[in-house]
Amino acid sequence: MKKLLTIVGARPQFIKASAVSRVLASEYGGRVEELVLHTGQHHDASLSAVFFEELGLAEPRFRLTLSSDAPVPRMGEMLCGIEQVLGSYRFDAVLVYGDTDSTLAGALAAAKSRVPLIHVEAGLRSYDRTQPEEQNRVVVDHLSQVLNCPTEESVRNLQREGVGGRIIRTGDIMLDNALHFLPIARQRKEEWWRALGIKDGPFVLATVHRACNTDSPDRLADIMRSLLTLSETVPVVLPLHPRTRKAIENVTENSLQHRFAHCSAIRLLPPVSYLELLLLLDRCSVVVTDSGGVQKEAYFLRRPSVVLRDATEWVDNVRQGVSSLADAVPGVIVSQVRRFLDHAPSEGSYQPLYGNGHAAEELLSALDL
Ligand code: UDP
Repeated sequence: MKKLLTIVGARPQFIKASAVSRVLASEYGGRVEELVLHTGQHHDASLSAVFFEELGLAEPRFRLTLSSDAPVPRMGEMLCGIEQVLGSYRFDAVLVYGDTDSTLAGALAAAKSRVPLIHVEAGLRSYDRTQPEEQNRVVVDHLSQVLNCPTEESVRNLQREGVGGRIIRTGDIMLDNALHFLPIARQRKEEWWRALGIKDGPFVLATVHRACNTDSPDRLADIMRSLLTLSETVPVVLPLHPRTRKAIENVTENSLQHRFAHCSAIRLLPPVSYLELLLLLDRCSVVVTDSGGVQKEAYFLRRPSVVLRDATEWVDNVRQGVSSLADAVPGVIVSQVRRFLDHAPSEGSYQPLYGNGHAAEELLSALDL
């Protein structure tokens, strides 16, 4: 029996890992044992527990307790905790997902403990090394023995960098999830949707949580102003990440804070569950986001997106003309959203770049488990 350690710690990883765990449980039950380690990076129930319940993830076998939220001490604690687990069991491989600090901690601990490392969602590059996620991606890719790439572009990036690991190109596991869970979301979340009371008609779905926006009160204020301007003509729904809710309190312009909190056309929600987020994507007209995952999910559900960053790792979406980089510039954000509202991209603009929804199966069968 092979033993795999899946390391997760942040919201997008619970979602990504569920695609692989589903296939491991249904098709590899007698051959592979998957144990899950939760690093504790996201401990808030709305960013963690809700996903375990909703996505049917196994209760983590190992759970770290972190005493700090600051990136460097937290990284040290994660490394020590993961190394201890790796030293106590014999694992055939470690699986890490995406580009968070938990991904980097898992990768470093696996490398130091000499356990083969599989990086799922490898090869993405925004080419902005100031971004914490980009730093994590680059280091993890160079430490991995197996690199699971979701797009042609990600394969090319790795080839250019000359990584040493084996590249396995499949589709994107997040598409597996979107296709699997969208019909479930439409069924299970209808009542939730009706209770929200959002009127029929177009609306903008916004998510903001990246450090580049939440750590800069000026950028955040510009984003808030843009959403206020948009809300004059189209309702905006904004599930607020706890970090963003806190950051809004640091915006010095009190009147802006007040207008934002009391604007009836901006619907502020607590962070929503994955099924709820899928339903919002399904029903909205345009997405405004700084999230990597939400950019892709918007594409899967054929919704144009305006990205609140000056670079993205999902460059294909921009090349297809269905995603546009607006950074945090109010005039650009507002004009790009309005352009997409007036002229929705055609169905043909969404080329099938991310596979056929069976990426997890393809990856596991390439691994020869
Ligand atoms: N997501 C969610 N609820 C929310 C906002 C996002 O379930 O309120 C999901 C979203 O569908 C996507 C993932 O979280 O699958 C993206 O995570 P996040 O935006 O935190 O991180 P990033 O993708 O930028 O690393």
